[in-house]
Amino acid sequence: MRSSLTSKRWQEVERLRAERNIVANKMKGKLEPSIRQALVEEGKSLKEGLVALEEDLVQLTDKLQQEAQCIPNSMHPDVPIGGEESSVVRKTIGSPKEFNFEVKDHLRLGKELDLFDFDAAAEVSGSKFYYLKNEAVLLEMALINWAIADVSKRGFTPLITPEIVRSSVVEKCGFQPRGQNTQVYSIEDSDQCLIGTAEIPVGGIHMDSILPESSLPLKYVAYSHCFRTEAGAAGTATRGLYRVHQFSKVEMFVFCRPEDSNMYHEELISIEEDLFSSLGLHFKVLDMASGDLGAPAYRKFDVEAWMPGLGRYGEISSASNCTDYQSRRLGIRYRPSVMDLSTTKAKKGKGSSSAPMQFVHTLNATACAVPRMIVCLLENFQQEDGSVIIPEPLRPYMGGLQLISPK
Ligand code: AMP
Repeated sequence: MRSSLTSKRWQEVERLRAERNIVANKMKGKLEPSIRQALVEEGKSLKEGLVALEEDLVQLTDKLQQEAQCIPNSMHPDVPIGGEESSVVRKTIGSPKEFNFEVKDHLRLGKELDLFDFDAAAEVSGSKFYYLKNEAVLLEMALINWAIADVSKRGFTPLITPEIVRSSVVEKCGFQPRGQNTQVYSIEDSDQCLIGTAEIPVGGIHMDSILPESSLPLKYVAYSHCFRTEAGAAGTATRGLYRVHQFSKVEMFVFCRPEDSNMYHEELISIEEDLFSSLGLHFKVLDMASGDLGAPAYRKFDVEAWMPGLGRYGEISSASNCTDYQSRRLGIRYRPSVMDLSTTKAKKGKGSSSAPMQFVHTLNATACAVPRMIVCLLENFQQEDGSVIIPEPLRPYMGGLQLISPK
């Protein structure tokens, strides 16, 4: 995409490059020293002009790209209009746990049970990084294995994704890899970024392809680390593990026919509800308001769980129907079969090749974002003696461990 301003800059850059090549060619032959010197000067001044223009062009292109990325998807008619506070509660599962002793937050529990080290991580990496220690390591691995095992049993193909991707793929998924408030870590002197979510490499897995209709839906459950700058997050509730720069996440992703995407959105949120209620958490499911959808989502359901130590609900997952916003940019299409109206059967083979191509719909949803899950588990299942009970579904993945006890 080019604006008239960037087109003009492009033309100027092309003109200067052509002039620089002419000068370079002229210098190839045998020349009088004074003529050579004049050409050297001319070449130098062209090079300087070109560098300045190229920098200008990069900045303009970035700005244009950012503007273009702000053009959001359309919205489902039921999306509540307004800011985050206008989001509507769709469902409430369970009720806040009652304690007959003074509850601790996950930071204090982690300290007393020797589960984290934020101080060493601050020295080694910076603020909002952490080491997990002892049972917290087992808990992270158990959460990942439990989530992958549960969701793959439901017909989702397990994936471990690349964690470095091209900036162009980040953009095509609706994220901004550059700019002042970007959430994305870019790798210097390359066109690559660290992923903020597995949604990006999974979205890209079928980039520029035509999927057979019979292969749809394609359902994946992907494990990856996520890297986020969290630019602009200061001031919000960011204590401890709640908001960090690097975390592990298990993400669900679906490619489907357009007419099926609302149905798969419901399926994804019901899987999340199953997962979180099987752990014994109390949570609310919210239909997110228009102001909180972000550019790619047509509709988004967030889950907020009760975190007694923090004394509030906190977002633990998000399920979005992105309709064709990402697939248009990623070039992921399928050819629907043609309906034979006389028999109302889909024609196969020769006849179906005349159907116009359509973009698939994409959906993504969190199965398990590990750090917030650890916050929830420690804070909800703490005991008066300072120990923490491990929910039953996780125990097989922790060698049968039932309790994290003070050392
Ligand atoms: P998102 O991909 O932004 O919808 O986030 C998915 C889930 O990841 C959220 O619901 C949170 O549970 C978790 N999450 C997002 N950002 C962070 C962060 N900076 N630190 C820890 N967990 C996060």
